[in-house]
Amino acid sequence: MDFSVSEKMQTILGMIDEFVEKELIPLEPEFLTKPSTNLIPVFEEKRKMVKQMELWAPNHPKEYGGMELDLLEHALVSESLGRSPLGHYIFGCQAPDAGNIEILHQFGSDEQKAKYLGPLVDGKIRSCFSMTEVELPGSNPVMMDTTAVKDGDDYVINGQKWYTSSADGAEFAIVMVVTNPEAGRYLQASMIIVPTDTPGFNLVRNIPVMGHAGEDYFSHAEILYQNCRVPQSNLLGPEGHGFVIAQERLGPGRIHHCMRWIGICNRAFDLMVARARDRIIAPDRKLAAKQIIQSWIAECAADIQGARLMVLHAAWMIENVGKKEARKEISLIKFVVANVMQKVIDRSLQVHGGLGMTDDTILAFYYRHERAARIYDGADEVHKISVAKRILKEYEGKRVK
Ligand SMILES: Cc1cc2nc3c(=O)[nH]c(=O)nc-3n(C[C@H](O)[C@H](O)[C@H](O)COP(=O)(O)OP(=O)(O)OC[C@H]3O[C@@H](n4cnc5c(N)ncnc54)[C@H](O)[C@@H]3O)c2cc1C
Repeated sequence: MDFSVSEKMQTILGMIDEFVEKELIPLEPEFLTKPSTNLIPVFEEKRKMVKQMELWAPNHPKEYGGMELDLLEHALVSESLGRSPLGHYIFGCQAPDAGNIEILHQFGSDEQKAKYLGPLVDGKIRSCFSMTEVELPGSNPVMMDTTAVKDGDDYVINGQKWYTSSADGAEFAIVMVVTNPEAGRYLQASMIIVPTDTPGFNLVRNIPVMGHAGEDYFSHAEILYQNCRVPQSNLLGPEGHGFVIAQERLGPGRIHHCMRWIGICNRAFDLMVARARDRIIAPDRKLAAKQIIQSWIAECAADIQGARLMVLHAAWMIENVGKKEARKEISLIKFVVANVMQKVIDRSLQVHGGLGMTDDTILAFYYRHERAARIYDGADEVHKISVAKRILKEYEGKRVK
């Protein structure tokens, strides 16, 4: 296994690190205290700079204007961009657009690609992914109430979704709906593209998450689909293949998420060490002189390094043995990295004392927003059970002395 970084990638990562440091981190104080919509003109200016540097859309296809980096290369980029909550958005590789781009590229019709894929990769429009329902368990999404019923040349969609991230201001949603209720459990649902200006697409509210509803890209919406009518040509991939397509976006997306979280760990760790180094706690003493703080520094360094290597290993497995064979590793990194991130942010915040609770550093933002990492994309418990079942199966009939 070789995780060495090519010269080309070292140059790219160096440029990205410098850009994040010089252009994005200075925007954070305003981002943390004002509506993000105020910053849209500045965001656009920064995005233009990224395009000029030819670093735009690092993971997306070249034919649509991206860099088409491979999985391990983009994993490293995602780590660098994770140092700021603005990183992925400014470089055109943010969720949920990144996942939607992947599935549109893989399953979209020529018409869908022409209409949505080009402008999406280019950053001219945004999208959202609408699967989770208010009344039913997101952890078991085969339980779904939202339906799409054929009527003439159209589908008519009815249902209530929430946590449709970034729906506010999005051009279209990819909505998971039951189209084939009589089919087997995993073949009942389909993905349908719904432009957000379609009558019956009703954005009820941006949900307050940890006390903050947010707006535009940085928000999570509740959506009521009420007799929402779209042409049948808006079906993405074959009817009944919603879960098959959802599986497709899983592996690579997980690597990107987890490496973004490692980037957050790196930032929180840097802040923690710098604060311990500088904070005077007695006339002749800095915080870093205390063994309990030293122990936290060592533990966090070890946890981050372990988690990082696990993600790189999972990416290597996906590329070398395939997504199916790497299912255990893909589940393992989800809950391990989310928990390491939570611990590192918490420790760093603690080291900052009262300052950590304010929005004068990025830590409180990360503390609020990244708690969700243990819930979305499969809750910790779901992944643990799935890994344990897989391991128990491997041990069936195995003699252990
Ligand atoms: C910030 C954020 C952004 C999101 N973005 C999107 C989005 O863009 N699009 C979208 O469709 N959804 C999104 N979601 C929704 C997310 O996918 C769901 O919240 C998640 O799947 C969990 O579903 P649930 O909330 O219904 O919890 P439930 O399914 O009700 O589970 C609740 C808890 O029960 C436990 N549990 C569940 N199942 C099991 C089990 N089998 N064994 C043991 N314990 C179990 C877990 O502890 C779990 O946390 C987002 C959520 C958050 C918080």
